[in-house]
Amino acid sequence: MMDAEYDPKTESTYECLDCGNTVLSTTHPGECPVCGATFRNRSMPLE
Ligand SMILES: [Zn+2]
Repeated sequence: MMDAEYDPKTESTYECLDCGNTVLSTTHPGECPVCGATFRNRSMPLE
């Protein structure tokens, strides 16, 4: 069942805010290898 708590073993999609590059990772990828901007977790709902 889905849990509201973040599961670190689950892969999340991170999207670069600057160039739109995406990466699937279990941990935050840090900086975009293409442009050096910061990735954002796309699975996190915008509020
Ligand atoms: Zn980028």
